[in-house]
Amino acid sequence: MVQPETSQLYEIIVIGAGPAGQTAALYAGRSRIPTLVLEKGVPGGELWNTAEVEDYPGFESIMGPELADRMQKHAEKFGAVFETAEATSISLDGDDRVVRTADGREFRAPAVIVAAGGEPRKLGIPGENELAGKGVSYCAVCDGAFFEGEKIAVVGGGDSAVEEGTFLTRYGSKIFLIHRRDDYRAQPILVERMRASGKVEEVQNTVVEEIHGADGRVSRLSLRNVDSGDTSELEVGAVFPFVGFIPHSDIFDDEIKDQIELDESGHIVTDEKMETAVPGIFAAGDVRSQFVRQVTNAVGDATTAALAAHAYVETLKHARAR
Ligand code: NAP
Repeated sequence: MVQPETSQLYEIIVIGAGPAGQTAALYAGRSRIPTLVLEKGVPGGELWNTAEVEDYPGFESIMGPELADRMQKHAEKFGAVFETAEATSISLDGDDRVVRTADGREFRAPAVIVAAGGEPRKLGIPGENELAGKGVSYCAVCDGAFFEGEKIAVVGGGDSAVEEGTFLTRYGSKIFLIHRRDDYRAQPILVERMRASGKVEEVQNTVVEEIHGADGRVSRLSLRNVDSGDTSELEVGAVFPFVGFIPHSDIFDDEIKDQIELDESGHIVTDEKMETAVPGIFAAGDVRSQFVRQVTNAVGDATTAALAAHAYVETLKHARAR
């Protein structure tokens, strides 16, 4: 990985190196704009939590981590500098957008693209935190193989639950898909494929009330049928909650917080250039308010954001030169 010169004044800072961040870096780099990408973990974002990607054009099937790796190498090729750091705040200082990091550093640039993604929503039930990493997991591709031959529960009814539940059939002796309704949000093609596997038992109109452990690992779940109120116990070796996504949008300093609009679920609202109400601050990918959240539209957002940020920076330079 290329090492950054922290004294350098970058022209674009990208926060987050998921598909949106990588694409923004690629386009900014190709525009020959000095670009810094700050990523707190492993570049690739949600691709690391995605087993198989089958809806990215040009790839009929590619594992999420492999696509992440390819995207990063591609972005680095055009000169983007990647730095491991957690961005904790964005503020303004004249024309500079100032990004501070958890380790006490400060980076400045005229434009910032927030592509910080988000994190899996938790169920918020007893046993979930206590048994995290001991049978409670939010990443099927990372942890599925640990439960070879065991019964596995997946919670949720969206694309993630259905897709990752289907992926887990390669490991589990049986998968229970526990959903609080009898209708899925997931795309019908994903539901069809899950049903065709013949290894998924759908437990509908049901919520998980508690995760129990024995010998330090998940052993059973307490369930409640939301229609009848009946309760039951289900023995499983693991539970994978896929119940949505919380955006990492809580990054703006108090001085600009009021100017940045968030939607009711906390996603950042932008205009068609992916720009927020604060000039020079853009958002792209899963952190942005939009109708769908796919890798394809994350990279589309980021393309627009990077080119719009480039135009913003050039306009600023011309104004200063006058
Ligand atoms: P999602 O679409 O928001 O679905 C969350 C699911 O969890 C819903 O079925 C919801 O039930 C359920 N849920 C929420 N809170 C719950 C709770 N406390 N207890 C029990 N169930 C709960 O989230 P997602 O599946 O993580 O997907 C996030 C975004 O990424 C979506 O836009 C999705 O389309 C996209 N995505 C796309 C793909 C793909 O195209 N291949 C793959 C993965 C994700 P209700 O339905 O009753 O609200």
